[in-house]
Amino acid sequence: MTMTITIALDLEGTLISDETTRIPRPGLYDFLEACKELGRVMIYTMVDEETAEEITLELSSKGFAPNWFSGVEWVDWFSHDTDFKDLDLIRGSDAKHAILVDDHLGFVKPGQEHIWIPINFFYPQDSNDAELENALWKLKRKIKKLTGKPVDVSWPGDKDKKLQELQDEIDDLLLDNIELQKEKDKLTQIILEDE
Ligand SMILES: [Mg+2]
Repeated sequence: MTMTITIALDLEGTLISDETTRIPRPGLYDFLEACKELGRVMIYTMVDEETAEEITLELSSKGFAPNWFSGVEWVDWFSHDTDFKDLDLIRGSDAKHAILVDDHLGFVKPGQEHIWIPINFFYPQDSNDAELENALWKLKRKIKKLTGKPVDVSWPGDKDKKLQELQDEIDDLLLDNIELQKEKDKLTQIILEDE
């Protein structure tokens, strides 16, 4: 039996800068295409649906995202009374078959940390941003773990094996030590508020 994984993607700070400036993160097009190959793609955002639809349409019409992205599915968060991006709220799926990619730990429902792929907040001024590439690699590893599917988890590009192993260890450490991740998240929020 094949198991379809739903990949729930945050919008602001993850795929784009924010809903006002709408700057696409480097590697967005390829990241979305790769996600589409790995599973069902949905957007999980606090941006209201009308604005979010406008953003996805804009991104695909400008060529920053594939065509299908303008009609991407949404997780209906607003009609549920919760502060968390609960993966059990995904229509036709549940937390056993879903993964969240998000820059903000505060939205992760306690108990669902293991199905969350942390990604650093996107600063458009950082021209070396390769977070989507990193997130894709983590996503593949996670999907392989969850489904047992023969997903190619080799590090993209020509980064060496040692770095791959190191990333692997850091990833596991952060997941094992959610307190550490919370600290990092808190610091990021402080920096953002200062700007
Ligand atoms: Mg975000």
